[in-house]
Amino acid sequence: MQLFQPQEVIVERGSEASPIYRNLRAALPRVPFRIVDTISTEKRTEEFGAHTFDAAKKKLLLTRHRGAFLKKCPGSEGQVCCNYFVINFASNCPMDCSYCYLQEYLADNPQLKVFSNVDDLLTEADELLSGHRRFFFRIGTGEITDSLALDPYIGFGREGVPFFAEQPNVLLELKTKSDCIDGLLGLDPKDRVVVAWSMNPQRVIDQEEHGTASVNERLLAARRCQDAGYRLGFHFDPIVEYPNWEIDYEEMLEQIFGIVDWRRISWLSMGVLRDTLSLKRIMRRRFPRTPLVAGEQVLCPDGKLRYFQPLRVDMYRKMLLWIRRAAPTVKVYLCMESREVWEQVFGFAPSCERELGNQLAPSS
Ligand code: SF4
Repeated sequence: MQLFQPQEVIVERGSEASPIYRNLRAALPRVPFRIVDTISTEKRTEEFGAHTFDAAKKKLLLTRHRGAFLKKCPGSEGQVCCNYFVINFASNCPMDCSYCYLQEYLADNPQLKVFSNVDDLLTEADELLSGHRRFFFRIGTGEITDSLALDPYIGFGREGVPFFAEQPNVLLELKTKSDCIDGLLGLDPKDRVVVAWSMNPQRVIDQEEHGTASVNERLLAARRCQDAGYRLGFHFDPIVEYPNWEIDYEEMLEQIFGIVDWRRISWLSMGVLRDTLSLKRIMRRRFPRTPLVAGEQVLCPDGKLRYFQPLRVDMYRKMLLWIRRAAPTVKVYLCMESREVWEQVFGFAPSCERELGNQLAPSS
């Protein structure tokens, strides 16, 4: 995987004292840095190129985050939710998947940003976790960015993993399509950190997941994390339907279970391709050759377009069969799916989001 190099790092005054700034300086000696006063949204547009998503991904902005870092995952209306919390330590992503929902979600605020006040982030997490010790949290950092793609420069892992490793009531999930795990290897996660990969067959990666690591690179990285004491996760999301998709997905699952020990996997999730009409318009403009905008989809109650329900159920059942063959008791859940689909795939649906969250908590 080719490492991302920003054209420039723009630093809002006040962020120079942060460890993230020092890490960036050390890791990017040839990239120009520019210190600026606080910049408004309008000024950011000028700095990064008039609202184009492509331009926004090429420069990196280091700034203070002024709101709350921790949020409950918004899930999707009417779908079974897995009771997940998210920490946003950055916004946008240096990679460029054709189906990425950030193209729509961050359309008005697309700058690739990293937040410098990690101390505030950890204080906030400490207050939440220590204030609710009887509650078990799953927290992820990969909602509006990739958890690890920027790690070689910003070193968030080095700041965050030691803190979360000491917490008795959390699993921190670092979700990625990169192989940027070197910064994690010397740390002791104490069984509190899950490194998770979003997986697709190489054919889908080549066609749709631009700038990401290959299947082999992701699995090699997963194996190294497993050997370093991390728990693992895999997300088959988005699962894409095309002629003979079954051959590629079954082969990919065999590859995964041939390389990693399924007993170190904390969870697997499945979710089919989903988008909206507005995201499809953006995809057509930015990725005119993608076949993903051409297939048939139906509008679901949460406003998202998905494959027709019987096709989704069939795809999930097949995936589950191939997973269970290799990993009979690994935890598997569906991402953003209805109770009806859960029942058809697993024979049950969790009664509430807390029940699903508890099922995904470690048993020991
Ligand atoms: S890796 Fe994730 S966040 Fe980054 S472009 Fe792809 S889908 Fe979006």
